[in-house]
Amino acid sequence: MRVLVTGAAGFLGSHLCRRLLDEGHEVIGMDNFVTGRPENIAGLFGDRGFHFVPHDVTNFIFVDGPLDVVMHFASPASPIDYLELPIQTLKVGSLGAHKTLGLAKAKGARYFLASTSEVYGDPLVNPQPESYWGNVNPVGPRGVYDEAKRFAEAMTMAYHRVHGLDVRIVRIFNTYGPAMRPHDGRVVSNFIRQALTGEPLTIYGDGSQTRSFCYVSDEIDGIYRLLMSEFVGPMNIGNPDEMTVRQLADVILELTGSGSRIEIRPLPQDDPQVRRPMIDRAREVLGWEPRVPLREGLRKTIEYFRELDTAHRAPSGAGSRGRVEKSGTV
Ligand code: NAD
Ligand code: UDP
Repeated sequence: MRVLVTGAAGFLGSHLCRRLLDEGHEVIGMDNFVTGRPENIAGLFGDRGFHFVPHDVTNFIFVDGPLDVVMHFASPASPIDYLELPIQTLKVGSLGAHKTLGLAKAKGARYFLASTSEVYGDPLVNPQPESYWGNVNPVGPRGVYDEAKRFAEAMTMAYHRVHGLDVRIVRIFNTYGPAMRPHDGRVVSNFIRQALTGEPLTIYGDGSQTRSFCYVSDEIDGIYRLLMSEFVGPMNIGNPDEMTVRQLADVILELTGSGSRIEIRPLPQDDPQVRRPMIDRAREVLGWEPRVPLREGLRKTIEYFRELDTAHRAPSGAGSRGRVEKSGTV
């Protein structure tokens, strides 16, 4: 298949491109580097099936030749990113979804939307089944991300109903692993970076809020299975192993052997109190469930952060410099 991946230079987009190439597909990556990094895709250029087009997908998208699949993964995804880029986030979820849907329709391609557990907001039901409509504050700071994704889901289903477009919607739950930016502000990257540098681990609120963390290889496998399935409609892909933020801090301190202390910071507004995917649908339809236990996934991620740090310190190193390189070109 010939596949367009928007957000290709991001954390998940780059892993997804790798998987698609490994499966023998041709991949056109597209990104404007607002939160992505050239180094995430640097290793893909060795593959003859990979092409890259720098482009902001909120503008008209031109792709030469046929396309079998359009996968819309472009969007700031970390809370600190979408709080800093609220209008870009709303635009890529709405205008970007519209442009990519129009492209899929014009090419007769299958459409795949990367949605999120944030469509459930601060859920009043735990765990969250796909049938739950959510509890979102549209005018709160997180509303820019949540509502953009809810709009994108609605637009995707409208293209399906009106134009007969073949669509898939994945609701991704907190995913972690190599290729995350150490300064992306998400809890796993913050805690690992802080533990490795001896800084205090910043717990927001009392740390009793829960999340369920999925290792990236499991997440990408679920996404690929959903792409290849015939299932139309939202599908949760995440790890149901729920834990508190405080428990996560303790595991990361243990695995890194760090002596960092804990520092309590204010809980951000509308921070969900609980989050855990119900994955019965993915089990039944895709035969999918996560395989990588938390400690194993965290060990691999810690190793990646350690290597980044070493590369960064080396005189000729080209390690992660986070947001500073966001306007870099490939
Ligand atoms: P990321 O920030 O690492 O990647 C997003 C990519 O999109 C970046 O490379 C960025 O430069 C690009 N992008 C943003 N706006 C763009 C635009 N207008 N035009 C072109 N490119 C643009 O985030 P991620 O964690 O890889 O998330 C990827 C997708 O998965 C997002 O849609 C996100 O909402 C979704 N998601 C991720 C998670 C998670 O835990 N990582 C959870 C739920 C949903
Ligand atoms: N969090 C925290 N310390 C940090 C970063 C995040 O305690 O340094 C908390 C955050 O308030 C939330 C949880 O960890 O309750 C997960 O945050 P993240 O930004 O990773 O993703 P979210 O699930 O909120 O989108």
